[in-house]
Amino acid sequence: MQTEGLTKRFGGVTAVDNVSISIVEKQFRAIIGPNGAGKSTLFNLLARHTEPTSGSIAFDGRDISNLPLHRLPSIGIGRTFQKSNLFWHLALRENIRLAVQALAVPPYRFFRSRAVPELDTAVDKILERLGMSAVADQPVATLSHGDQRLAEVAVALGGSPRLLLLDEPLAGMSPQETQRAVEIFKELAKHTTIILIEHDMDVVLHLAERITVLEMGRVIADGTGAEVQSNARVREAYLGLAPSC
Ligand code: ADP
Ligand code: MG
Repeated sequence: MQTEGLTKRFGGVTAVDNVSISIVEKQFRAIIGPNGAGKSTLFNLLARHTEPTSGSIAFDGRDISNLPLHRLPSIGIGRTFQKSNLFWHLALRENIRLAVQALAVPPYRFFRSRAVPELDTAVDKILERLGMSAVADQPVATLSHGDQRLAEVAVALGGSPRLLLLDEPLAGMSPQETQRAVEIFKELAKHTTIILIEHDMDVVLHLAERITVLEMGRVIADGTGAEVQSNARVREAYLGLAPSC
């Protein structure tokens, strides 16, 4: 995925300011930056949930700047939201099933869906990949917080994305839940390009091959963990350290 001069203004606020980034296939990219830096807005642009004020987005060499939102799964992009996007009273299995059904290309015929074995196989595979088979039949509302966050990822996997956008999927997780999720993301990353918004620097440094740092909508650094950590601007702006520290 590549962006060129991507910009989003809300009235007088420039949430994303002239961002040009390039993510190669199978790369694990993290996006970090203080609250209000424009991370979620950048995701909303990449996932076509928000129209850019200016600039362009390309995926797989193709300009998707004007692609309708509903076409996104069909070209291989999946995402999670910072706020929950699940049917809480339905079992986890049913949530994933609905996602697979809705996002499959070509689409399953809704009225025949109960009799489609590939659908069940696809759902079981996702449950296995996330280590959630044991809780598959529980309503999402009764799952632990960590499992609820992973359920968001499970639903995003319903469209078999080649690129997965994860917006703070670890928020509110216990250290044990975080550790488990990190292992799961590592496994997913073997087959999928992942862009992760995350605050925990240990997690980011552990997972990401490349890190993009946003501040006030602008990219202030982009590089490996070591490069970003030694960047004077980042240390000053994000880590709150004097440049000489
Ligand atoms: P982050 O995810 O890095 O915390 P956001 O992308 O949510 O940052 O927000 C970036 C800036 O854009 C903030 O100043 C925020 O208030 C503003 N913003 C985000 N979404 C909207 C919106 N829908 N309308 C107006 N301002 C918005
Ligand atoms: Mg955000």
